[in-house]
Amino acid sequence: MIEVYFHNSLTGKKEKFSPVDPNRGVTVYSCGPTVYNYAHIGNLRAFLFVDFLRRSLKLLGYKVNMTMNITDIDDKIIRDSIASKKSIQEFTKPWTDAFFEDLKTVHAEILEHYPKATESIPEMIEIIQKLKSKGLVYEKDESLYFSIQKFENYGKLSKIDTSGMKTGTRYDTDEYEKEDVRDFVLWKSPKVEGEASWNTEIGTGRPGWHLECSAMIRKVYHGGVDIHTGGVDLLFPHHENEIAQSEGAFPEETFVGTWLHSEHLLVDGQKMSKSKGNFYTLRDLVQKGIDPKTIRFLLISTHYRSKLNFSTDRLEESANSIRKIQNCLDRLLETEPDYERQGLTNFTHPQCKIWKEKFENSLSDDLNVSKTLAVIFESVREINLMLDFTNLVESQHRKEFIELFNYYNRLFDVLSFESKKDLVDSEIDSLIEERQLARKNKDFARSDAIRDQLLAQGIVIEDTKDGLRWRKK
Ligand code: AMP
Ligand code: ZN
Repeated sequence: MIEVYFHNSLTGKKEKFSPVDPNRGVTVYSCGPTVYNYAHIGNLRAFLFVDFLRRSLKLLGYKVNMTMNITDIDDKIIRDSIASKKSIQEFTKPWTDAFFEDLKTVHAEILEHYPKATESIPEMIEIIQKLKSKGLVYEKDESLYFSIQKFENYGKLSKIDTSGMKTGTRYDTDEYEKEDVRDFVLWKSPKVEGEASWNTEIGTGRPGWHLECSAMIRKVYHGGVDIHTGGVDLLFPHHENEIAQSEGAFPEETFVGTWLHSEHLLVDGQKMSKSKGNFYTLRDLVQKGIDPKTIRFLLISTHYRSKLNFSTDRLEESANSIRKIQNCLDRLLETEPDYERQGLTNFTHPQCKIWKEKFENSLSDDLNVSKTLAVIFESVREINLMLDFTNLVESQHRKEFIELFNYYNRLFDVLSFESKKDLVDSEIDSLIEERQLARKNKDFARSDAIRDQLLAQGIVIEDTKDGLRWRKK
């Protein structure tokens, strides 16, 4: 295990990370989707951060044990399921399936646990009972509220000042005003005809959104977690309220060791969000012909604590970056067509050793993705140079370079290791035709991509007075 440092939102500092029980694995809980519609690529940035964290921890030698919840009951789900005359299960099933399909499309690894809120009601009741016994709960109109004034540490994550707060002001919705400190609902009595509810010993009703996460952490881990993640918009009040519930109910336990918050995806400087209407789903972009690998790379290649502005230029940059790396890899695969990857990491080539070490050092420094990319591009540049003098690179080293790319790909997962077969003449002709058309349409990204693809196969295009010709290098 390599020592890793994270910026903990709780302390505001970069700290050395140590899991409570490395043998059990690093326990991580991430706030997941509310399944009432397709996720947009802003949501996907938060979910891919979880994938990046998972792959980084594994690469650095840690075992992982990770959870993302499915919020399958909340105000919006109740509203939309009633409107579509479906039960909560019927309504949420296709959106839950769509969420998993999207994760698969962008190559996010499957986590160990995906609990659903509707399957965690007993744990919610347990927490409420504990909170009641400690005097932290009051009832109003048959709903139960958490009294934040009675909880000493309220505000420790968000550093929000509760001193000017009026007593007894309440939130009983799942949506709320930012910066506004109020008591929040734990258990909501049914308000709307046909609303889903559970008949329990604390009354008939359904959980408030914040309670769901505290309960699912308990359901999966029977205690706290090493790391809790979510988008920055969840820091207050959602995560603050999770702390209040879990630490209020179980003061003897550590709820969360390290809080990691990922920044937003923006469009023209504004947060991408459903309510603003400035969003794209993954499906929108794939339908426009954008390769999911490009979207994956775009969303993970900016540091998780930096805002990222989405634009078509950024997509193109991302496609170009992948192409640069892939072209170098293709050159290696071309000369070692029968080589089967072994998943090696104990390199013997001195340069590979250095690159691997730099890569790991960058990752272990609060997942510094920019530095890992700098290492990749440095190695691409140098390997390309070596390959230009092909006789000087021994086969054994070329194989190690392939393994090095394989190693990088354990994190980024955007490269293809299929060794390219030779193109036949008619395929070359049709690619050149397509390139001409792309140039005519000013689609230079496509025309450059075709030129690079041909070059990687040793085909050079020449402009002669009789028109375009191609030849093998
Ligand atoms: P939701 O389904 O709305 O509960 O959101 C799921 C996750 O997406 C949460 O972790 C949010 O913080 C995150 N999220 C929402 N909008 C954005 C955005 N524009 N950029 C990055 N993450 C976001
Ligand atoms: Zn949550």
